Amino acid sequence: MPDTTFMELEPIIGLEIHVQLTTRSKMFCSCANIFGDVKPNSAICPICLGYPGTLPVPNRQAIEWTQVAGAALGCKLAKHSRFDRKSYFYPDLPKGYQISQYDQPFCGEGQLKLMVDGREETVGIERIHLEEDAAKNTHPSTGSGQVPKGADYTLVDFNRAGTPLMEIVTKPDIRSPKVAKAFLQELQRIMRALGISDADMEKGQMRCDANISLREKGSKNLNPKTEIKNINSFKFVEKALQHEIERQTAIWQERGLIKWQSTRAFDAKTQQTVAMRTKEEAADYRYFPEPDIPPFVFREEELEQRRIDVPELPLAKQNRFVSEFGISSEQARLLADDRKLADFFEKAVSEIWQLDNDRDDIQRKDRKILSQEAANIALRQIRKIAGGEPLKITPANFAEVVVGIHTGEFGKHLVTQLLEEMQRTGGDPDHIMANMGADGGGEALAEQVEGVIKENGEAVAKVKAGKESALQFLVGQVMKKTKGRADPAEVMKLLKGQLDK
Ligand code: ZN
Ligand code: MN
Repeated sequence: MPDTTFMELEPIIGLEIHVQLTTRSKMFCSCANIFGDVKPNSAICPICLGYPGTLPVPNRQAIEWTQVAGAALGCKLAKHSRFDRKSYFYPDLPKGYQISQYDQPFCGEGQLKLMVDGREETVGIERIHLEEDAAKNTHPSTGSGQVPKGADYTLVDFNRAGTPLMEIVTKPDIRSPKVAKAFLQELQRIMRALGISDADMEKGQMRCDANISLREKGSKNLNPKTEIKNINSFKFVEKALQHEIERQTAIWQERGLIKWQSTRAFDAKTQQTVAMRTKEEAADYRYFPEPDIPPFVFREEELEQRRIDVPELPLAKQNRFVSEFGISSEQARLLADDRKLADFFEKAVSEIWQLDNDRDDIQRKDRKILSQEAANIALRQIRKIAGGEPLKITPANFAEVVVGIHTGEFGKHLVTQLLEEMQRTGGDPDHIMANMGADGGGEALAEQVEGVIKENGEAVAKVKAGKESALQFLVGQVMKKTKGRADPAEVMKLLKGQLDK
């Protein structure tokens, strides 16, 4: 028995992530890419069914998106690339081989930086390649509606056969289950920001295999790894890896290093990994160049265009929003994940800053608080009010509302109503307020309050004598003056403030 008393082990983790691309058509035929949305086996043709004599035609959009994904992850984009055949037998693979890529993928090495618990982590990318997905088998063991438990048959849905599937392989750079989970979450945000995949793990649009081995801390060895197949949620990735670290540590302590590769599956019910089969070596797949698709040679300008096509990525946007506008990291994160709302917010803030040049009731020092308020209202109310429809509220009009609330011109209690009306009509807040039964006014709330105090000496004296009802009377007078526009709570605060002087 090896002496492990003083030995500290560390996990070496690498991920392989399959991402379904949301192109209109499949990878090598013109069938619609609508697996899951329609009746099984309704989007199929001789090409994706693997009939003899058919010829695959590569989907240009899928290739460009793979290159854009590569550019977003800082990968080298290959000038020379090609497809290969990966041969194996399974009922979901009608051709008996998968068209994939072997030694000339579209994207080479890159890296992704992410923040985990306030620390920056860098995960290297080994490669990104493009392939076709297999059909979808439904076995009786899953006990789904179509194939009940105990049934003696399996159903195959070929709508998924031949749909474009991008595979991202990381370097074995990950040292904890938590970082593995965070990496996947960041990857999902990026796929969505690029608009190339919905990347929902529960729906199988993003599927993860995790490779893990242990080694003595300080060692540079890469030991035989265990592959955990097809993990379908962020939580399970973390759990499966945690369990695997415990299992492998126990084996190491008993017998030492694990000397062969193996494949396991994660069982969500027991929260454990279970053995599947020993992993095929690349040679078992008998890879060779796909003879029906000529190799690709990309021009430098084409590859440069893919880099230009990458929008600002979510984490970069999040960090910029925090530093430029002083909003919280959480607000910035939520905005960065909603590109349209983020654009709207950013335009509104620049309008607000414009207003602070034009109006003397707000100042430069108010910028941060106004930006925070704009982010709050955008996240809490604008999203709800728009309800997925295009926004009719313009950033300029929204800026007026944010500033109006801040100066007390618009009562907080009326904001939802005001914004709903703005979304319905596309109108500006002053007109809508006037139509809602309040005139333009324009006088700041503080001045209105001051006016009411001057005009109601008797009531003021009563308040100072401690009569609560007189204060209510004064609030009522201000509300009357503002024709209900002011926020009563705000009026109360201002009245108390001025009367205490
Ligand atoms: Zn087809
Ligand atoms: Mn694959």
